[in-house]
Amino acid sequence: MADARPERWLGHFRRVLKYLRPHRRPLIMGLVAALGVGLFYTFSLSSTVPILKVLFAEHESLTDWLYRAEAERRLGVVFPADVPDDPAGVPIDNIRDTSPAAGVLRSDSRITAIGSEPAGSYALLRRIAEHPGTLLPDVRVADATGVRVVALPLRPHREWWDLARRAATLMPAGRSAEDRFRVLLILTAALVVVAVLGGLSRFINEGLVATAVQRAMHDLRTDLADHTLRLPVQWHSLQPSGDTLSRFATDIGKVEVGLSTLFGKVAREPLKALGVLSLAVLLDWQMLVIAVLGLPIGAIVIRAFGRLVKRAQQRASESWGRLLDHLGERLLGIRVVKAYGMESAESQRFESEGRELTRAQTHIELVDAASNPVLEVLASIAVAAFILYGGARVFNQQLEPHLLFGAVVCLGGVFDPLRKMGNVNNRLQQADASARRLFEVLDLPAERSAPATAGRELPRFQRAIEFRNVSFAYPSSPHRLVLDGIDLTVQRGQVVALVGANGSGKTTLVSLLLRFFEPRDGAILIDGHNIAEVTLESLRQQIGLVTQDAIVFSDTVRANIAYGANGVTEEAVRRAARLAHVEEFVDALRIEQGGAVSSGYDAPVSNRTLSGGQRQRIVIARAILRDPPILILDEATSQVDSESERKIQEALEDVTRDRTTFIIAHRFSTIARADLIVVLDAGRIVGQGRHDELMRTCPFYVTLVRTQFAQGV
Ligand code: ADP
Repeated sequence: MADARPERWLGHFRRVLKYLRPHRRPLIMGLVAALGVGLFYTFSLSSTVPILKVLFAEHESLTDWLYRAEAERRLGVVFPADVPDDPAGVPIDNIRDTSPAAGVLRSDSRITAIGSEPAGSYALLRRIAEHPGTLLPDVRVADATGVRVVALPLRPHREWWDLARRAATLMPAGRSAEDRFRVLLILTAALVVVAVLGGLSRFINEGLVATAVQRAMHDLRTDLADHTLRLPVQWHSLQPSGDTLSRFATDIGKVEVGLSTLFGKVAREPLKALGVLSLAVLLDWQMLVIAVLGLPIGAIVIRAFGRLVKRAQQRASESWGRLLDHLGERLLGIRVVKAYGMESAESQRFESEGRELTRAQTHIELVDAASNPVLEVLASIAVAAFILYGGARVFNQQLEPHLLFGAVVCLGGVFDPLRKMGNVNNRLQQADASARRLFEVLDLPAERSAPATAGRELPRFQRAIEFRNVSFAYPSSPHRLVLDGIDLTVQRGQVVALVGANGSGKTTLVSLLLRFFEPRDGAILIDGHNIAEVTLESLRQQIGLVTQDAIVFSDTVRANIAYGANGVTEEAVRRAARLAHVEEFVDALRIEQGGAVSSGYDAPVSNRTLSGGQRQRIVIARAILRDPPILILDEATSQVDSESERKIQEALEDVTRDRTTFIIAHRFSTIARADLIVVLDAGRIVGQGRHDELMRTCPFYVTLVRTQFAQGV
């Protein structure tokens, strides 16, 4: 069982990933698109810095600023920001300790010219910024010590310099209001283009991930359905069907949300945060520290919330199961509910059972609702700390205000994707709880892989069926023997009637023959082959089953008769229908559905639209069509009027000819014509033989006939 494993983080959810493997192509393309989302998000935020610059600068143009910033970086000095062009050159405001030109320049120095031609301050800054080498010769510097001509050592360009310079040359370099407006126009147009590309990437990311996830969910659903059908009868008899339905609906739904979140949000948002973070580092690395400091606290909060949600999801899924079970059962028995006037009482019970679900769901929603505000408060504390710290640096002239502004925008740009991730862990934990419920079923051994299945084919039945000292107890009550030391031999062609009080073990006996359950002791042999050692297919192919409840599926009459028989001809279906006396009513069937009328064998039927007797005959036809050498009939005790009963009786007589038949008998006519009557009492055989013999030798049988079969005698 899944529970026995040590709990890995999201261990159950991780196992679902294997369903995505066949659909990895759209998934991978979707993830590549997530890269685009991160990239364009970073671009769009990065445009805020130049936009702020253009809007707030009084003298400098955008390109002037770019050259000044690069000149400052290369020389390791601070020049006065946003001043008018000065024909007397650029003064130095400050020299950083790390400046490569520290030995050459002083804090009162002014660079007046480079080379022979005199130039204004903007042109000088541009020369410094653009100089290709790391030593700028022939620089005229004036300060208190006089005028000198020096060579200025420069830091090398950064990798992105070329790109930035080229982008800058695309912009109008003028400083007039019109030129600035044109720059603003270009920047905002770029912003819109980037938004379009970002939106497109996001659509591709979500669309392709959804495609892959939906396909994977289809596979998972199919797998679960397939496996559920292959689970042993024992499991089905104990498992409430509503709970199984809830696994299909609720739990697969949660897993789906988990996968979409994982490959959508979890792929996208951190990339966005990372992109902006690297931009922020370019602007000012100290912000990285602040951003990173808050993260562990956020992670602890997210984790705590995730745990709460996981537990609540488990309760919610179970509760859904109980609710569906209740509702399903009551809908099935709607006539009983109505006849006994229980509508109000039932809906009250539904209401009270639904409360647990409401509680669990509310719990999930509340934790979810709390996640984001708590993270937002944490984020705003971090932003406030950053503004205080950055503001102090602005006042000390270490940082230009528009850069701080840009940095705060970036910080927001880092926190916003992280905030969106706030409920991701909740979603993943919910998906984990649901995946656990799915694998609880998927991990159960299917009937076919039971160790006793040795894989030999059972040859077609020829001679005799033998129960040899068979005992059995249901696993749910292992100490109560339902069958105890059964010894029984049935020859080919015999009609065997099983009789006994309710609960004496008749149904269990035939269930063992079908291997719905395995005997605890003893063995069942068909022509000397132990049925535990042959394949289930070869065994069940030789047995036709007509159950008392006569199950008809929602399908046409033809499909219901041909159920379980592959590639049969129309003629074969009609022959079986004739033998089972279906033909007598099939022509009269006319069913109207959505305006179209279907009749005869094409009529869509269901358990609800046919009478008990009609259903009985359809299932008998189904059993005949497969032409099994062994037939198991559970006689209907009710539901049929005497006319139908006579028809069914006739049908059965036709059918049982040339077959070995086990009948759980409820009618005197059946025991009267049986070749062998087996009398069961509390799991033991207390008599066997023909009717006349037993009337003489078995007092228990005499009582049974007088009480159970009285009306027939
Ligand atoms: P009969 O067909 O003669 O009425 P059954 O074979 O259905 O009797 O049942 C024999 C006994 O086994 C009954 O006491 C019944 O309660 C019990 N039983 C039947 N099915 C199960 C099950 N799936 N789990 C546990 N006990 C069961």
